[in-house]
Amino acid sequence: MTSLLTFPDGLRFPLAMPAGRRIVEISESDVIRFIGMTEPDGDCLRFTRFVSKKSGYGYFGLRCQVNVLAHRFAYTVWRDPIPANMTLDHLCHNAAAWAGLCPGGPCIHRSCVDPWSLDVTTRLLNQRRSPHQPRADLNHRNTRKDECDHGHPFDEANTYWWHGERHCRACRAALQRARRKRGAMSAALAAQGKHPLPELPLEED
Ligand SMILES: [Zn+2]
Ligand SMILES: [Zn+2]
Ligand SMILES: [Zn+2]
Repeated sequence: MTSLLTFPDGLRFPLAMPAGRRIVEISESDVIRFIGMTEPDGDCLRFTRFVSKKSGYGYFGLRCQVNVLAHRFAYTVWRDPIPANMTLDHLCHNAAAWAGLCPGGPCIHRSCVDPWSLDVTTRLLNQRRSPHQPRADLNHRNTRKDECDHGHPFDEANTYWWHGERHCRACRAALQRARRKRGAMSAALAAQGKHPLPELPLEED
């Protein structure tokens, strides 16, 4: 039988993630247990266990005495290992803050563990995405013609045209992989009687 957690592009257990100063292994049963502590809620996937009142973040107990930030766990499992010293930005919070719907601080978005609501950022980009910065600053890179918003070259091999606009092949492939992985996560949620996740938009931008 194919495991609901078998990803099409070759993710194999055990995975590893840093917890304090050590590296801990993540097994398939950890992932199933984690799914059991989540609940889809609108556009978010809420972590429902061990949420810090002070910080608003969820904590997942991986081993005795080893707790990891729940959203970092989700990102590591369904997206990629998190590079050292990088933070994860909650895009769902940013969108709500932009719309004036979230005051920030230890808000409800911090307990969101939807891996596709999270983005690895440098501190600088994090500041640029802050709702206190003018919106035009965010679109600054769109005016550059030699690469896509994710830094892939708009050269002949990587470019295709759709409705008269230039698009990035590398980004399209990444989005297709993401949709398959998201499908696997939705299947794992469904296996525990939970709602599936909303689908990712067709285009990233
Ligand atoms: Zn969210
Ligand atoms: Zn928020
Ligand atoms: Zn791209």
